[in-house]
Amino acid sequence: MLTVNAYGATSATAPLVPLTIERRDVGPNDVLIAIRYAGICHSDIHTVRGEWGPIAYPQVVGHEIVGEVVEVGSDVTKHAVGDRVGVGCMVNSCGECDACLAGDEHMCAKGNTQTYASVDCDGTITQGGYSTHVVVDEDFVLKVPESIPYEQAAPLLCAGITTYSPLARWGAGPGKRVAVVGMGGLGHMAVKIAVAMGAEVTVLSRTPAKRDDALAFGAVAHVATGEEGALKALRRRFDLIINTVSAPLDMNAYLATLKPQGTLVSVGAPPEPLPVSAFSLIGGGKSFAGSNIGSIRETQEMLDFCAEHGIAPETELISADRINEAYERVLSSDVRYRFVIDTETLV
Ligand code: NAP
Ligand code: ZN
Repeated sequence: MLTVNAYGATSATAPLVPLTIERRDVGPNDVLIAIRYAGICHSDIHTVRGEWGPIAYPQVVGHEIVGEVVEVGSDVTKHAVGDRVGVGCMVNSCGECDACLAGDEHMCAKGNTQTYASVDCDGTITQGGYSTHVVVDEDFVLKVPESIPYEQAAPLLCAGITTYSPLARWGAGPGKRVAVVGMGGLGHMAVKIAVAMGAEVTVLSRTPAKRDDALAFGAVAHVATGEEGALKALRRRFDLIINTVSAPLDMNAYLATLKPQGTLVSVGAPPEPLPVSAFSLIGGGKSFAGSNIGSIRETQEMLDFCAEHGIAPETELISADRINEAYERVLSSDVRYRFVIDTETLV
């Protein structure tokens, strides 16, 4: 067992505090990673505050992790000491179900083991990336290309793959009009990735505040949806919409902006339902879909794609003692566009 410094929650309502957690001994297939940077995802906040259901405390969250391999188990072949690696939202899966055998661990029939707040193979509850070290099965460890700046790479492990996967699956590319709803951590990556795929991208954000940034990321347009009639003016415009919003929205108003046979994919995960009228779908033969992170294979593909296209998240590096302040800023959409914790400050 390794006792490591971390920052975590002791209840759904108290601020996060410094604490220590135990990491398991390095098994034959495990990799010990010295974490250097950890991104703050809105899912961390939903989780520690119990918005998705009750969890056990103390709980350390964080599933956007990059660092260096410092020890490998006897049977490890994919990673070596000194490698720059990443860990995303899952750290294990059953390996035997149809989904796992097809390389879709994120859709494991038994439910994959998530990086935090999940029951691990040894029966303990997984603890996430706001910590100095983590032990992970080598199959769930990604290679982070050297050309992606170290400080900025972490958010790719969740925000990057969660947006890359539906954009790839629903064919964002030349000749396709893609809208991204909400430009936070996930949304800004959706814009950059869809632009790199060759799509014509429009950002649908509540106010004009992020217009200049949207255009700088390569969007052709930014529409402030809080303005009267803004969505009505976009009727039948998009082939694909990626909704990244963390709160409930009127999906019917957004479905109306799809072309016939278009698809609205929700990756945003508010605890509340997203009601959809049958008539919003029937008339234009439209689809309302969801998407959950991506497989390990696709996560590596996304990292390589970002390296090839020179894409990196926009980040604000913070010390651990600013995590609670960062949470409040995420909740008020005052983040440009992802907070990343410098884990050297976890003392
Ligand atoms: P974030 O950084 O807080 O971004 C969310 C954005 O949504 C905000 O920047 C804001 O954009 C918009 N927004 C926030 N509150 C809103 C409201 N009340 N009404 C309308 N728009 C609002 O969050 P994130 O880290 O990108 O995560 C977004 C969501 O995706 C969360 O629910 C998270 O749990 C979920 N998620 C899902 C997956 C998956 O696999 N499906 C993976 C990771 C995260 P504007 O200021 O531009 O309006
Ligand atoms: Zn996340």
